[in-house]
Parts: sequence; structure tokens; C-alpha cells
Amino acid sequence: VRPPVRIGVHAFVFAAGRSARDYARVAAGARAAGFSLVEVPLLDAVGIAAGVLRRALEAEGLGLTCSAGMTAAADISAEDPAVAAAGEQLLLRAVRLAAALGSPCLTGVLYGPLGAARSPPSRAARARCVDILRRSARTAQVEGVTLGIEPVNRYESSVANTAAQAAALVAEIAEPNVMVHLDAFHMNIEEESMAGAVEDADDLLGYVHVAESHRGYLGTGSADLQGLFDALVATGYEGPIVFEAFTRSRSAGELARPLALWRDVWTSAGDVAVHAERFIAAGLERAGRSPRA
Ligand code: MN
Repeated sequence: VRPPVRIGVHAFVFAAGRSARDYARVAAGARAAGFSLVEVPLLDAVGIAAGVLRRALEAEGLGLTCSAGMTAAADISAEDPAVAAAGEQLLLRAVRLAAALGSPCLTGVLYGPLGAARSPPSRAARARCVDILRRSARTAQVEGVTLGIEPVNRYESSVANTAAQAAALVAEIAEPNVMVHLDAFHMNIEEESMAGAVEDADDLLGYVHVAESHRGYLGTGSADLQGLFDALVATGYEGPIVFEAFTRSRSAGELARPLALWRDVWTSAGDVAVHAERFIAAGLERAGRSPRA
């Protein structure tokens, strides 16, 4: 008997703040909507009370994963070595925080900042980025944390836009605790097909974001989400499947600009979340994988 699919939700669906009240609202909302897992964005991994957050999620019986990202001033893919060094410190801070929270992984756009690219990275900058990811992966391994590489669309990064590029990056890093993380919103822009991208990631695939083309209600946009569910089930994927959605009025201020969140595509967190959990479960069921058992 296979274990239930770990269907999760990005914490910012419910609250982007970092107070104990925000954490309680995230935990209660995720549980009420039927999720078993919450993804906690650490952002620059500063100002998060790990104990308070961990207890809030544990109180609702929820598992937890962590994501993080670079900033303009701390970016491991930067041309300026000092900025890259600051990025390495950010990454190590995030790895330690993920470990303190009991997360099995730290994933996301760990290789660069969102929305800032003007050109592809130079060979030197890319090589340094790979070296830093390799060193960080070794530290993460000691902490029991797997790193995830999430390719994002061309408007958000120039380092990795496709599953094939992410898989190549993981192969270059060449550490066992590094995986590919795919996101349907970005796949919908950059990939030929959902199945093709899942195939490109192959056995490196370890994390999935289910997100619509407009980052709102699942099934109401142009992303081929059933194609993604079919491919995941066909390849025997058993990792986390996490709902990600953003809307302007509920986003952290530092994300609105890089993610271009200019309008509200949804207003009720509870409603968009319940709908998403059912949509993912039904899509997996239709693909032949019973998610609850
Ligand atoms: Mn994502």
C-alpha cells in the first residue's frame, strides 16, 4: 500500500507575515483546506522565529518544506564576487533555518534573484554559481536537507528556464542531495509539454508546484495541469505536490515586483485553497493514482 500523496500549499496563500498570528492563520487555513504540508518561503532567511513557526504547524499535524531565493545584493549568480559571496551566506543561512525547522528540503530559485536578469550569466559567473551550490549542498547534506533547483520563466531569471536546464545544473553540481523542482506556471511558458518536461527532469524530479497560468484558481487558466498529473503518475513520482498561488493584496511586499503581481486574481484564501486541494486530488485520481491511500 502506497502512502498518501503529500499535497501541500504555499504559506503565502494564507498570510505573508511573520508573526505568531500569521503562522497560526497559515496552519489553520492549510489544515481546514485538507492539505498535509505547508511550504514556508524563507525569502532571505532573516527574522523567522523557527520554534514558533514549527510549533504552529505541528499543532495542526502539518508537515513542512522550505523555499528561499536570492536578492539583488546577495546573489550567487552575480558577476560581482562580493555579491555572490553574500548570496552564499544567504543560502547557508537558509539551509540552517530549514534544518532547524525540520524541513527535508530547501527549494526554489536558489540560484539567483527573481526578475532582475538583463542577460545570461557569463561563463565565470555561472561556474561560480555552480561551485557555491555544490559547497552549499555538502553543508545541507550534513544537516539532512536536499536542495531543489526550480527553473523559472525567462522574465524572472536567465540562469535556468527549463527542466532540461535545471537537470543540467543539477548534473554539474554533482551532489546526491540536489533535485529538480518543476512549476506548472513556468512550464506553461517555457516547455513544449508537461510530459516532456517531466521526462527531461527524469529521476532528478523531487518537488512540484501546481500553479495556473495566471497564478489563481486551478483549472481556470491555460496550463495543462491534467497533462502534468498524468505525467507525474505515469513516471511514479511520489514527492510533494504543492499548490502555489499569488494575488497582489496577499503577497509579501518584496515579491510583488519581481513576480509582477499587479492585480488581485483571487480574494478568498480559504476558497482558492479548498478548490486547489480538491482539484489536485481529483487530477491525480483521474491519472490513476489514488491520493488518499
Ligand atoms: Mn514555483
